[in-house]
Amino acid sequence: MQQVPPEMLWMRFSFENLGQSPLYTMTQGNGADMIDTHTQTGTRWLEKAGLRPTRQRVTLAGLLVGDGQHRHVTAESLFDAAKGQGDAVSLATVYNTLRAFCDAGLLQEVTVDGSKSYFDTNTHDHPHFYWEDDGTLTDAASHQLVISNLPDAPEGAEIASVDVVIRLRRKG
Ligand SMILES: [Zn+2]
Repeated sequence: MQQVPPEMLWMRFSFENLGQSPLYTMTQGNGADMIDTHTQTGTRWLEKAGLRPTRQRVTLAGLLVGDGQHRHVTAESLFDAAKGQGDAVSLATVYNTLRAFCDAGLLQEVTVDGSKSYFDTNTHDHPHFYWEDDGTLTDAASHQLVISNLPDAPEGAEIASVDVVIRLRRKG
């Protein structure tokens, strides 16, 4: 019987395992596999905040953080994304769920016009760009922002937070 060198055995072992790794599923898998991965990530995100992973919460959590990227959504845009994926969730449920995620500290709310709320999966303090032409919100570089002085809070009040939203219009 031929002796297989130990390094060859290890190589075969690592190739066999590659097929089952989550990374492989993400890049090579079909759509259903990807939704599974998103569901698992979404479920862990909910559990981290002590939220019960109901079906609707898991669906929305998967759309919000399933791919591991930060994003800014409105209730409407998340509702459209759920519908596009074939999930029946009402706009009211999406809105209430986003509020519950905020209360649990999973999202932060960014208000742009006083009327329009965006929900951000990145809960650290950071400035935003608001693109006036298409109404999207994107992150601006925190390290480039310097606030050297703030007006004194009125008597009997203290500053709770400072939101920086830089409104953009395209040139030309
Ligand atoms: Zn943001």
